[in-house]
Parts: sequence; structure tokens; C-alpha cells
Amino acid sequence: MRPTPAPKTYRVKSFGCQMNVYDGERMAELLAQQGIAPAPEGEEADLVVLNTCHIREKAAEKVYSDIGRLRRDDGTSPLIAVAGCVAQAEGEEIMARAPAVSMVVGPQAYHRLPGMIAEAVAGRRAVDTDMPAETKFGALPARRKVGPGAFLTVQEGCDKFCTYCVVPYTRGAEISRPFAEIVAEAERLVEAGAREITLIGQNVNAWHGEDAKGGAIGLDGLARVLAELPDLARIRYTTSHPNDMTDGLIAAHGDNPKLMPFLHLPVQAGNDRVLRAMNRSHTVDSYLRILDRVRAVRPDIALSGDFIVGFPGETEAEFADTLKLVDAVGYAQCFSFKYSPRPGTPAATMADQIPAAVMDERLQRLQAALNRDQYAFNRASVGKRCTVLVERKGKLPGQWLGKSPWLQSVHFEGEAAIGDLVEVELVHAGPNSLGAVRVVGSPSRA
Ligand code: SAM
Ligand code: SF4
Repeated sequence: MRPTPAPKTYRVKSFGCQMNVYDGERMAELLAQQGIAPAPEGEEADLVVLNTCHIREKAAEKVYSDIGRLRRDDGTSPLIAVAGCVAQAEGEEIMARAPAVSMVVGPQAYHRLPGMIAEAVAGRRAVDTDMPAETKFGALPARRKVGPGAFLTVQEGCDKFCTYCVVPYTRGAEISRPFAEIVAEAERLVEAGAREITLIGQNVNAWHGEDAKGGAIGLDGLARVLAELPDLARIRYTTSHPNDMTDGLIAAHGDNPKLMPFLHLPVQAGNDRVLRAMNRSHTVDSYLRILDRVRAVRPDIALSGDFIVGFPGETEAEFADTLKLVDAVGYAQCFSFKYSPRPGTPAATMADQIPAAVMDERLQRLQAALNRDQYAFNRASVGKRCTVLVERKGKLPGQWLGKSPWLQSVHFEGEAAIGDLVEVELVHAGPNSLGAVRVVGSPSRA
């Protein structure tokens, strides 16, 4: 690789989960601190960071087509850094397969990006997939500019080892960020304009720490402390594991008014044999009992989940149990995926891998049921009054888009500004969004 001029502009492209969105924002802040500016819309950047996802094969392969697309007519490319979970899992392999890439950096090492850029400018390719003892968080610049809804990583990694999942290998062992660090970051986010904070982690409800007095607290205690920030109006958290739904966290849905009535609690499958083979360590019944308890303290809770169809050995009858579970719960929205064998995971070498056509057909049936329930949930919301956190302008003149407490997209017309919490009445339901009218005389900031 030849020496190249130091980059003046950057673009960060993030794929996959909210953790990647968060990491992408933090990398952008880090690059800005180095005097590298975001590339203007439509213009090529001197440095492109591809912040990748390894959760399913399709997502992982995408990085190679993206690298190809960055190649210019004269055969050269901008400086390319591959970050995220593909970087962690395939480090040296990316270097061998994609000569245009000059940096490969894992999710726990991206605070070292400035040093790697200096190496790349000097003509040396660099791979850093360490999981260093010093955490990246302490090395990142303070948060300055955010939208009304911000993500805050509180927990990373996973020790659960579901048999299909790469996360324990790519994100490493489960760690909880220290309480004081999280509170300080939340304060900065609120100062920078956030009105809603979503606490994120692969297993966010496994978060635990010590409060200011040295007492042990969990996610419910953290949410209680954050609720004391006067300008913070809403708190959410994602993604949770059923085994870490503590009594305290369930109770918080009833007694912390800033905790939004929304719970993303993946179940993956509706059959106990499949759940055991997945190493999920909960049963269908224990999962449903958690939902009952949350509904008892917060009857209007919107429920969400993740599903995998076609796990090795899943029979038609076992898949039918997943559809039964969906019918029993009535989810407000969900994610559903075809099982994707991931190298190095136990499920990838299990017998009875399900043919693609069977998975396709099961996914279609599952998604039809989930879409039906999402639309039903939206229709049942019509007539409710609620606040909407305004996130951006809509396509039509005078139209605004935002989120309801139940995480539905809502559009309305009238006077408002980004970041306002506007009182509305929901008047129209579509499959993916709702229309609302402003409640006359309501304040624009609640
Ligand atoms: N920790 C969360 C939990 O256990 O529910 C989920 C985190 S994972 C990043 C997000 C979702 O990706 C999972 O809930 C699962 O549905 C899906 N997923 C993970 N591995 C997969 C695989 N090999 N094939 C298909 N979907 C997968
Ligand atoms: Fe993956 Fe399971 Fe950990 Fe979730 S709990 S991140 S699905 S191993």
C-alpha cells in the first residue's frame, strides 16, 4: 500500500443492530475530534468506515459488495476501514480478500482508529481485533450533538451462548458499564438535546452495577436514577433476555412514569424442544408468565420480540407452536428471521438443517401473522390520546413525524419543532404508522 494524503472527510455506514448505530455515532465523533469532517451529501469521502454486522450470512457478505462499490473508475478507492462484528470475526481474512481495505477494527477497539488512520496514511495496513482491558468508552470524546432520541450503550457482550448466535464470539463476554459513566453520558445527551434515551445492550436487562452510595442496582434502579433528569422525558431499553427480567424491572413498568410502555423481549421460537436446542434457558410457559406479569402492572404495554424460523430440526408441528404463541401474545411489532448458520456456532453443524424453501414458506406464514397483529395493535390505538416525540419533518408541507409511547410512527400536521413532545389524538391507523391530530391548547413541550 502506498502512502496517501491524510483524510479530510469521512463517512460512516452502519449496518445491523442499535449497538452498531451507537458505535457508528461514536466513531463519527472520534473522527470529528481528529479534525476530519463529515463528507457533504452526494460527495465522495476520503475515509469510509463500514460498520458491519455478522449476525446472519447475508449481512456479513454485504461488506464485500460495499467495498467493491467504493472502487473509483481509475481503480483506486478511498481509505476504507471495516469495523463492527464482521471485522472481529474475519479480521485477517478481510485483508486477504479485499486489498482495498486498509484498516480492520473490532467493536471493542475502535477508539484506536486515529492511530490506525495514521498507519494507513503512512502506507501500512492495520488490523486491531483486540478486546483490550481498557474500555473504549473512557477514550471516546464527550457527546455533543444528538437528535431528540438517543442511544446509550450500557451493557455489551453476552455469556448466554445461544447455539445459533455469533454475538458471544464477536462482542465478547458480558460487561456492564459503570453506573457513574452512564449517568454522566446521559446528562451530556440531555444537554445536547436528547429527550428520550434508549439504553442498549445485547442483553441490556443483565446490566448491574453499584449506585452512588455503593449499593447494588440493576437496570430498574438505573432507569429510576435517570428518570430524575428533569429534561429527559422518556426512557426505553433494548434488547432484553427473558431470564434477566427481574421482579424490579417488571415493577418499574408500573411505577416509573418515564419508562415507556414498550418491551422488546425476544422468544425466538414457540416450542420447548426447539428452545432447549437453541440453549435459550427459558420455556414457552416461563416466557408467557413474564408477559402476564408485565401486563398486570402496565396493561397497555406494547410487546415486541424476535423469531427465528427453520432452526435445525424444527418440524412443521414445532413451527406451528410458534404461530400459536404469536396468536396468544398479540405482538405490537416484531422482527423475524430465517435461521442462518454462523461459522463456529454449535447449531451450524447440527443435523437436519432445514431447506431454504421450507424456511421461506415458514417465514412468510409467520410474517403474515405478525403483520396482522401489528395492524390490529395500531387499529386498537385509534382514539387514544398520547404524546408524540417529534423526530423530523414529514414529506407533506406542515407534516411532522415522531414516535408514540408504544414506539409507533405517528404523523400529524401543525405547529411543532423537532424535539417537541406534542399531545395528540390518534385518529387513523395504517399497518406501519398512525395519523394523529394535535390536541388543541396542549403545550408543545411536556
Ligand atoms: N440478545 C438478544 C436476545 O437474546 O434476544 C438478541 C440479540 S441478536 C443481535 C438479535 C436477533 O438476531 C436475535 O434475537 C435472533 O432472533 C437473531 N439471530 C441471531 N443469530 C441468528 C442466526 N444465526 N440466524 C438468524 N437469526 C439470528
Ligand atoms: Fe445471541 Fe443468545 Fe446472547 Fe442474545 S442471548 S446475544 S441471541 S447468544
